[in-house]
Amino acid sequence: MKPGCNGTTMHPAILVTGGAGYVGSHTVISLLENQSEADPFDIVVVDNLSNAYRAEGQKKPEALVRIEELTGKTIYFYHADIRDAKALSNIFENHKIDSVIHFAALKAVGESVQKPLEYYQANITGTCTLFETMRKYGVYKLVYSSSCTVYGEPQSLPMNEAHPTGDLTSPYGKSKYFCEEIMKDLCLSDQSWAIISLRYFNPVGAHHSGRIGEDPMGIPNNLMPYISQVAVGRLPELQVFGNDYKTVDGTGVRDYVHVADLADGHARALKLFRQPGFNGFHAINLGTGTGYSVLQMVKAFEEASGRSVPYRVVGRRAGDVAANYADVALAARLLAWRATRDLPDMCRDTWRWQRDNPKGYQA
Ligand code: UDP
Repeated sequence: MKPGCNGTTMHPAILVTGGAGYVGSHTVISLLENQSEADPFDIVVVDNLSNAYRAEGQKKPEALVRIEELTGKTIYFYHADIRDAKALSNIFENHKIDSVIHFAALKAVGESVQKPLEYYQANITGTCTLFETMRKYGVYKLVYSSSCTVYGEPQSLPMNEAHPTGDLTSPYGKSKYFCEEIMKDLCLSDQSWAIISLRYFNPVGAHHSGRIGEDPMGIPNNLMPYISQVAVGRLPELQVFGNDYKTVDGTGVRDYVHVADLADGHARALKLFRQPGFNGFHAINLGTGTGYSVLQMVKAFEEASGRSVPYRVVGRRAGDVAANYADVALAARLLAWRATRDLPDMCRDTWRWQRDNPKGYQA
């Protein structure tokens, strides 16, 4: 074990890039909550805070401060960009990094169309710099935060991992796809690599404490944070993007999955690395396998919150598909994972977070 800076010994560490963000912070808290004394590890987070709030005078972003309060455990935090090779090397020098969970990325689909260079820089250059540093330090185990976006328009439903990828329109989606291709090439070039790419469907929900949740900057793009901001009175009404799709009620259908279930999926992916001989590239869907329409989501949220969510139907949003939901058989087989939280759980936890933190972490 490496000696720690304060004279204590350091455990093997999991490096979490983008660990102050939405899925990242929920994964960090889940790993710490489920840590056993027999199997100690450190959590090291690197985040450039481009999409995470840090209070003035604080060293750590608010999400991590709260996780430390809730768990009583310490998180090592580095405020750095993953494109900064020197800063990354410094982290690998300071800690005994055993595996990496890579969330750090820009993620707004619409914005990516306006700013393709920024997206490719952050998401692809950042990922390559991370891989170079991992290789330099002999670390080859990675869990990647991917998205069902890589599939593009569904050719069949439910979508399984064999569905073609890459026929995409947004730079965001392409950046996720390109990163997966880079990972496949890496795994072909050197059998040391073991990479699990988790393709999330639609992450929603919040930690059950109501202290950790999704904190989008500005007006949310995604449905669930938009609904919850309408329910709490921060936004006047929801715009429903189209009600003329061939779905149960004409509105778009998606596979919403609780962020705590996603977090559990990452923990299970890490366990897979312990299987002797496990290597190569593996893409795995994380969803519930069930789709809900926009109006079903509105109704479920109203029931969970006791608030009304006024809405108005407007035209379709460019690039949207009618329906999308996951085939989750591979996650069950490889990770022994399935989503355990249902739609009322997702709505209840989102609402608790929104009600208790109407302005997100800045309250
Ligand atoms: N949606 C909507 N109003 C909004 C945001 C989203 O009607 O303000 C719809 C959108 O058209 C889609 C569903 O909600 O059918 C989920 O959209 P989201 O952006 O959350 O996820 P994605 O489209 O990326 O799956």
